[in-house]
Amino acid sequence: MDPVEVAAAPDAGPGPAWQNKCPWGTPNTTSISCSLADVMSEQLAKELQLEEENAAFPEVVAVAEGPFISGENIDTSSDLMLAQMLQMEFDREYDAQLRREEKKFNGDSKVSISFENYRKVHPYDSDSSEDEVDWQDTRHDPYRADKPTTTPRKGFTGKGKDITTKHDEVVCGRKNTARMENFAPEFQVGDGIGMDLKLSNQVFNALKQHAYSEERRSARLHEKKEHSTAEKAVDPKTRLLLYKMVNAGMLETITGCISTGKESVVFHAYGGNATEERTIPAECAIKVFKTTLNEFKNRDKYIKDDYRFKDRFSKLNPRKIIRMWAEKEMHNLTRMQNAGIPCPHVVNLKKHILVMSFIGQDQVPAPKLKDVTLSSEDMKKAYCQVLEMMQRLYKECSLVHADLSEYNMLWHDGKVWFIDVSQSVEPTHPHGLQFLFRDCRNVSQFFQKGGVVEALNERELFNAVSGLNITAENEVDFQEEIETLEKMNEDHVQNQGKKLMMFSRDGDPPIYDE
Ligand code: ADP
Ligand code: MN
Repeated sequence: MDPVEVAAAPDAGPGPAWQNKCPWGTPNTTSISCSLADVMSEQLAKELQLEEENAAFPEVVAVAEGPFISGENIDTSSDLMLAQMLQMEFDREYDAQLRREEKKFNGDSKVSISFENYRKVHPYDSDSSEDEVDWQDTRHDPYRADKPTTTPRKGFTGKGKDITTKHDEVVCGRKNTARMENFAPEFQVGDGIGMDLKLSNQVFNALKQHAYSEERRSARLHEKKEHSTAEKAVDPKTRLLLYKMVNAGMLETITGCISTGKESVVFHAYGGNATEERTIPAECAIKVFKTTLNEFKNRDKYIKDDYRFKDRFSKLNPRKIIRMWAEKEMHNLTRMQNAGIPCPHVVNLKKHILVMSFIGQDQVPAPKLKDVTLSSEDMKKAYCQVLEMMQRLYKECSLVHADLSEYNMLWHDGKVWFIDVSQSVEPTHPHGLQFLFRDCRNVSQFFQKGGVVEALNERELFNAVSGLNITAENEVDFQEEIETLEKMNEDHVQNQGKKLMMFSRDGDPPIYDE
C-alpha cells in the first residue's frame, strides 16, 4: 500500500483497508460534533448558563420581547396566567351560585345554615376583599402627624370615679403605640396604631432601641443590595394585578421594565382611556414594591419570635408592610403635587403597585441628574430649583426626602423632578434632621462638583432649608448639634406626649421653648 495514501485517508477517499474488512461495518467517525475548543468556549458556557437561568426564573421580564402586558396579548401570552384568570372566573361564578343556593335553602327560616365553608378561595385572590387598599380607600393621609393631644395642665381629665391622669396605664400605653410612628419608615410597627394597642414603657423602650439599631444595619444592607443582580421576577400575584389594570382599561399596554432598584421594579406603560372619575396620563410609570425583600422577612421573624409580641403581632403580614411603603410614597407624592413641586402625579394605588405619571417621553425615561450633562447655565438653574424645591418640601409638605441625591432627581422639560419618596419622613422624625443633613450634603457636593459657584455648602444649605440657625463651623460639631436637637425633641415627646414644631409655617424662626 502506498504510504502517502494512508496518510491522506482520514479526510479524503475511502478509509484504510482494515475498515473495509471490519465485520461490523464502518464505524461512524463523523458524528463527533463537540471539540475541546467548543467545550472550553465561553460563548457556549454563557448560552448554557442562560438556558439554565431561564428555566429557573421563568418569570423574568425581557424588555426586548415586545410589550410585557397588552390588551392583545392578554389572552395568549401566558398559559399559566390564562389558567389563573379562568379559574378565578370559575370560582366567582361558583360562589355566586353557592350564595343563591344558600339563600334558597335558608329561605325565611330564623335559623340559617351558612355555606361559607364551601366557598372557593382562589390562592391569588384570597385576600382581595379583606385588605384591598387602593387609591379610593386611602385619600386620607395617615402619615401626617396628628395634632398633639395632651393631658390638660390640671393633670387629669374626667370627673369623680372616672378620673384619668397622664400616668394612667391605658393612656400611657396608647401614647407609646402612637410614638412607634417615629421609628424609621422601614421599621414595621404593624397594625398597632390602628388597633388600640397599649405598649408598656418597658416594651416601648426595647422596641425603640431595636428600631435604631435596625436602621443602621439596614443602611449597610441597602448599599450591598444595590449591587446585587437583577431581580426582575414579578410574582404571579403582581402579574395578575397588572393584568387586571390592563383589563379594566386603566392601562393600555405595559411595555416593559425601566428599572430594577433596591426595593422596587419600575415599568413603563401607556395609559388607558380616561373616564369621568379619572384622567390618565398618556404614559405611566408603574412602581412595583418588591415582595421578596429578605430584610422584611428578617424583621418579620424578629417580631414574631419575640415572646412579648406573640399574641399582639401574630397577625402581622409582611405584604401589608410592603403595601405601607407604596401607600406612603403615594401620600408623599400627593403632598408634593399639592405644593407644586415637580414630581410624578399619582394615578392609582393597588396594594404594592403604584401607578404614576411617567417622567420622560416615548418610553424613554428622563435621565437622572447624575447621567445628564448640563450647560453651566442649566446647572445653575437646576441648583436654584433644587434649593427651592427642598425648602418647599420642608415647609409646605412637612417632609424631608431622606434619599435625595443626583440618583433620585430627573432632568426633564428643562427642569428638575424629585422622585422616590417612599422613605421620606416628617422633620420631627427622630432622625429627620440627620436625614436632611445627608440630603444637603449630597446636593451640595453634586452642584459644587458640577461647577456651580453659588452652591451653598451642606451646612448653609441645611440652615437655608430648615430655617434653623446652627452656627457650628465644622461638620462634626454641626452634626452633634443636630443630634442634640433631635434628642431634645425626643425627650419632649417622652415627657409631653407631643412633638415640637421644627419650623414655623409663617417663616418666623422655629419654636423651641415649651
Ligand atoms: P428605587 O427605590 O428602586 O430607587 P425609584 O422610584 O427611584 O425606585 O425608581 C427607580 C428608577 O425608575 C428611577 O431612577 C427612574 O429612572 C425610574 N423611574 C421611577 N419613577 C419614574 C417616573 N415616574 N417616570 C420615569 N422614570 C421613573
Ligand atoms: Mn431611586
